[in-house]
Amino acid sequence: ESLLLTIEDLKVYYDTVSGVSKAVDSVSLRIKRGEILGIAGESGCGKSTLTTALLRLTQRPGYIAGGAIHFYPQEKGPIDLLTVSGEQLRAIRWRNLSYLPQGSMNSLNPVLRIADQFCDAILEHSQMSRREALNIVSDLLQQVGLEPHVARMYPHELSGGMKQRVTIAMAIALRPDLVIADEPTTALDVHNQRIIIQMLSELRDKLRMTIILVTHDMAVHAELADRIAVMYAGTLVEVGDVRQIFKAPKHPYTQGLINSIPQIGGQRVRMEGIRGNTPSPRNWPAGCRFHTRCTHVMPECREKVPQLLTIANEQDAQSKQPTLVACHLYTQFGAGGTHDN
Ligand code: SF4
Ligand code: MG
Repeated sequence: ESLLLTIEDLKVYYDTVSGVSKAVDSVSLRIKRGEILGIAGESGCGKSTLTTALLRLTQRPGYIAGGAIHFYPQEKGPIDLLTVSGEQLRAIRWRNLSYLPQGSMNSLNPVLRIADQFCDAILEHSQMSRREALNIVSDLLQQVGLEPHVARMYPHELSGGMKQRVTIAMAIALRPDLVIADEPTTALDVHNQRIIIQMLSELRDKLRMTIILVTHDMAVHAELADRIAVMYAGTLVEVGDVRQIFKAPKHPYTQGLINSIPQIGGQRVRMEGIRGNTPSPRNWPAGCRFHTRCTHVMPECREKVPQLLTIANEQDAQSKQPTLVACHLYTQFGAGGTHDN
């Protein structure tokens, strides 16, 4: 399998009156072609800051303080997303790299019929005729399970779930190599969440779409993601195969996240949650940033920063995906592996 996007030691900082806020601090990650990579973590951990940086949409006072991002779309050579010109970036946005920001379903133009929103966008980014674009629109609506007459409707005539399907259809209109979706199910009711989850999984299977799925909702990751990357306090604490991580989470923070998922349809279980509060990005705790909340904290955790290292999955020898964890529980006896994520 080939790599589609690589992130190397990325740092996204914000200058504030009370100091530098290190919202994303040395994140390295590789996204493989055809996978759904889930980015998990509580709000404020840096998920959205990370994904907006991938599109170079970081806004002042935020800035990229270091690192590299390389994109390998099918028809084009490697693209250095941090140094590519603005013009080249516009040329690949949407065509090769599509982004659904959080709440994007509310940003449909209220005065344009659905078909016209699509056509305007398609025509702006391609050499197609209006007729060709209209044909694509009806295909796309069908693809996301909407009736053809939706093309003639205005956004206010659609439910939230329908609008979300329209925005996803628009995001995939030009068959991009990569779709980045930030909280695509979050504002929806359970019924519409199910529909969107089903739809995204079909798109991955049918179109072999690569998706970066950002959500705080672990239940959505469990259903959709192939791999997940768990963020805490601007860093990655665990990366690996989704089944492996749900079966045997390694990092105490990941364990907390999984224990706090409410059981859907099952008995009401007491949610354990994670004690304490998220620390401030202007003043992350020294050593392991989770040490202020961790029930396993050891003296070295307060001083030494744990590196994200490969560990053996002893519980599941068949798993081909190594799990990476940043926690001294797994390194204290010198059991650390490589930096290969
Ligand atoms: Fe807890 Fe220490 Fe592991 Fe951090 S490094 S998660 S404080 S055990
Ligand atoms: Mg967010």
